[in-house]
Amino acid sequence: MQGAIEINQERCKGCRLCAVACPLGLLDLAKRKVNRKGYPYVEQHDKEKCTGCTACAIVCPDGCISVYREGGLRRAKVPQQTTPEVFQTAYTESEKGNQLPHPEEAQSSQEVHLMKGNEAIAHAAIRCGCDGYFGYPITPQSEILETLTQLKPWETTGMVVLQAESEVAAINMLYGGGGSGKRVMTSSSSPGIALMQEGISYMTITEIPTLIINVQRGGPGLGTIQPSQSDYRQATVGGGNGDYRVIVLAPWSVQEMADFVDLGFELAFKYRNPVMMLSDGVIGQMMEKVILPTPKPRRTEEQIAKECPWATNGHGLKGRKPNILTSLEMIPLEMERRNLEMQKKYAQVERDEVRYESYQTEDAEYLIMAFGSIARISMEVVGILRSKGIRIGLLRPITLWPFPEKEVARLGKQVKGIIVAEMNAGQMIDDVRKAVCGSTKVIHFGRLGGVVPEPNEIISQFEQDFL
Ligand code: SF4
Ligand code: SF4
Repeated sequence: MQGAIEINQERCKGCRLCAVACPLGLLDLAKRKVNRKGYPYVEQHDKEKCTGCTACAIVCPDGCISVYREGGLRRAKVPQQTTPEVFQTAYTESEKGNQLPHPEEAQSSQEVHLMKGNEAIAHAAIRCGCDGYFGYPITPQSEILETLTQLKPWETTGMVVLQAESEVAAINMLYGGGGSGKRVMTSSSSPGIALMQEGISYMTITEIPTLIINVQRGGPGLGTIQPSQSDYRQATVGGGNGDYRVIVLAPWSVQEMADFVDLGFELAFKYRNPVMMLSDGVIGQMMEKVILPTPKPRRTEEQIAKECPWATNGHGLKGRKPNILTSLEMIPLEMERRNLEMQKKYAQVERDEVRYESYQTEDAEYLIMAFGSIARISMEVVGILRSKGIRIGLLRPITLWPFPEKEVARLGKQVKGIIVAEMNAGQMIDDVRKAVCGSTKVIHFGRLGGVVPEPNEIISQFEQDFL
């Protein structure tokens, strides 16, 4: 079979993994040539011999190689991700407005890509009709801004991408953009999100829908650049002032990083509330197979005016009073009334938007609870302990707020004990204890400061406390 490959030589870092993988020896580093990053890059010789086997594309850690063969583009034939059905958002083909053609429109929605979690977010944002991204670089999430600037969506969909002068500036740009009814987002990592708390508090009381991504690293303070989950409380309880909540989604795969962008915007606009995607450095940095969402155009100004009659964008101003979005009320009773409206909305979110995934809980005598990247490690723990005859299951909250309280309470009555695995000193465990209300023993396992645990460490803790 005849094939052909395309190498993104600007992205290549010259590791030669593809050259080693090619069964026909068709790849090697270009002699005395480097790309703009200063790396020697790989070249293909004897192009006519290429079979399009994809071996080179599969091993490339940076997703530099696209393979073409009879029948069209093919990067790597792999099974679909195991994203729970409920999270596979159905994208409708909306009518095109005045939008320019989408850069990735020609690609099949089922095409599998290999990329980092951070990169998947950037691609998904463009495909989900995002109007603007405002952010400030910080490890381990800088690839989101970096990828967006490489993709240049302002030349295609018209999406604005702006590096703000600080995280405080970025969150206030979101405040303005979201206030005009636009789909706007930012991303940062733990200390950067800490700086944004004031803006988040303002956006909750003014009911401005925005998407905030936190790719967590170890803390407190500047901490480390390694992965952590120590912002659970900051996200679910809130670090700003007032009685507010943000909806918190916790992805555990690159696929969910991509899927939760559109889900996040949908929820944000449905409830007129900020949504946070609470990821971590493991998922942001790891490369995995991902099916990107089908591109849909940005909403037209007319669509925004119809969907967001509250927005301060001047639409229909001649026929209505000006819209005012403010967090300041001088009369306490009016402030109380607005707070009570918010509480009603939160009760609805708690009723309708709880999401979680269960794994082998039906016959479980013990339970592991974990979210995000440590839930992947915990799945391994379930496998190892089950092979020793211990009936254990995994419950992975996908929404951290609203927390799956009812399901935890139900399982609390079923099992002899729950181990809560987190990369922090014990934060989600408070919600677990509250949910089970003393019906079973609950213990914590945690590593701090950016340390990612091995399955055996969780198993040792489990055996020490329960067996
Ligand atoms: S597709 Fe297969 S044959 Fe072609 S360059 Fe890559 S590894 Fe070699
Ligand atoms: S595996 Fe990827 S990064 Fe490494 S040399 Fe090949 S193309 Fe470049």
